[in-house]
Amino acid sequence: MTIRILKPELAAQISAGEVVERPVSVVKELVENSIDAGATRITIEIKGGGVEQIRVTDNGCGIPAEEVAVAFQHHATSKLATPDQLDAIATLGFRGEALPSIASVSQTSMTSRPPDASQGHRIRLRWGEKIDEGPQGTASGTSVTVGDLFGNLPARRKFLRSNSAEAARVHELMTRYALANPHIRFELITENRTILSTPGSDRPEEALLAVYGREVASGMLAINGDNSAEDYGVSGFVSTPGLTRANRTYMTFFVNHRWIQNRMLSFAVEEAYHGLLPDKRYPLAVLDLAIPYNEVDVNSHPAKREVRFHFDRKVYASVQRAVRATLVAEAPVPTMTPTRSSAVPSSPGFFRSNFPGASASVSPSQGNPQWNTLGSPPDAAATFRQTLPALRAVGQVRLTYIVAEGPEGMYLIDQHAAHERVLFDRIHRRAAEKSPESQPLLSPLPVELTPSQAEILENNSGKLASYGFEVEGFGERSYLVRAVPAIMTTQDPAQSLVDVLDLVAVEGLLRQHEDVLAASIACHSAIRAGKSLTEAEMTALLEQLEATENPHTCPHGRPTLMHFSEYQMERGFGRR
Ligand code: ADP
Ligand code: MG
Repeated sequence: MTIRILKPELAAQISAGEVVERPVSVVKELVENSIDAGATRITIEIKGGGVEQIRVTDNGCGIPAEEVAVAFQHHATSKLATPDQLDAIATLGFRGEALPSIASVSQTSMTSRPPDASQGHRIRLRWGEKIDEGPQGTASGTSVTVGDLFGNLPARRKFLRSNSAEAARVHELMTRYALANPHIRFELITENRTILSTPGSDRPEEALLAVYGREVASGMLAINGDNSAEDYGVSGFVSTPGLTRANRTYMTFFVNHRWIQNRMLSFAVEEAYHGLLPDKRYPLAVLDLAIPYNEVDVNSHPAKREVRFHFDRKVYASVQRAVRATLVAEAPVPTMTPTRSSAVPSSPGFFRSNFPGASASVSPSQGNPQWNTLGSPPDAAATFRQTLPALRAVGQVRLTYIVAEGPEGMYLIDQHAAHERVLFDRIHRRAAEKSPESQPLLSPLPVELTPSQAEILENNSGKLASYGFEVEGFGERSYLVRAVPAIMTTQDPAQSLVDVLDLVAVEGLLRQHEDVLAASIACHSAIRAGKSLTEAEMTALLEQLEATENPHTCPHGRPTLMHFSEYQMERGFGRR
């Protein structure tokens, strides 16, 4: 093989791949440039999911005519001059790569005028090559139009999802930027309709209201500002324990106004809610951390989505303490404190290490991918691969597990997982028989969905109906819930729909092997850990579990029960 240096156009297209994955990445880079330019008003218009056209217009500082073409060269930036500045980056951009990368995979034009210039300047490029440039009358500020994205890279287009899915990502992104920058007036227009508009009043609670609506905004608490001197400053909002969601996507984090994704920060927030939320429910949060620029490295990810903290523990502690202090000060701790699964030490490891033979009989052919990577639960499933024997409920442990006795020893059953399996089978059976157990509502309930929720709903409307949901659209992302699966009627029906859509969003990415939608309905409706069960309820649940076709795993593939054979118990007590 001969080693060659790539032609510049090809090299540019490859490096563009790191910056520009899909339409939302273009929007992100252009909006960041507008924010860096000091804009107080930014309008984003997209057509055809952003593939056909993206236009971002701002009222920022503009670019002098003679520099407009320079901005499209690689490593051309006004934001860094000397290497030491790299240690303390205050702007969102700094690499000088975005404009050339975007231009190399699209037909781009830019019009710009600094406020003090008498006229503006315009440049047009196609697949990175300049077509023309020259003077152009325009308002002060900058407008960039990106058309025919990936028109020269058909293979990349294939990786894009539907227009509405791509547009939903843009909406999602813009909600985050709107929350981080309440001083900027944002307007997002997709397919000629305004779908987000914020007042730019510099009042964070007004941005929150514009993004999430009145119901959510009124359930949010402002972080109370007096944190201790050794912590980083944390500002923003968190939800009261009464307002929760079925997944983590409603936690938004910023470092010095830069939106970042970071699991550790979600954990810190969840830790602050410890004991306050039911199992598998997550808070909403919008938090901005003020961290000295030289204590955070923003140059560690191609799309700048992740940052590295120099003092992780300090970041974690600051967030955890600020959120906890706010919750305790503003909302007296409720008494309902169900056990969280994270607080339960896992016994499988213990048993495995002490009873080497215990897991030997587990068959990998059980087909549970988790067991292969995480290790097998002790002796589960293998001994009784057909059906479950009749079990007698003995009691409940930690309001989470049912202890049962059977002919072959002791069984520990996860009440939530077991109930999920029971409901899942029932939902499926009724759907197959075309007789969903549906409960019509006395009066239909209106519900407002986010674009991603609406997308999931539209893509699954047939299935939702076959499981008992009756939902009807009226107007933009507004829907009427007319009926819900009968197993869900004890809850708020509109919220149930939203939760199921959110669960599908998460589960859909993670699991393929069983019906994600039915699993989400089952998960949402199943009894939770933390619920005390009567003997009769435990007995009924065990009987129903025995009757299922696949009693050993929940629809997500996690085990529903663990078995401790008589032999294991006797070995453990030195009787053998
Ligand atoms: P970076 O943002 O990393 O500097 P870009 O390729 O995104 O790199 O932009 C190159 C340069 O073009 C910026 O440094 C800035 O000087 C100028 N620029 C880009 N967009 C705008 C804008 N909307 N307003 C003013 N200047 C801009
Ligand atoms: Mg930039």
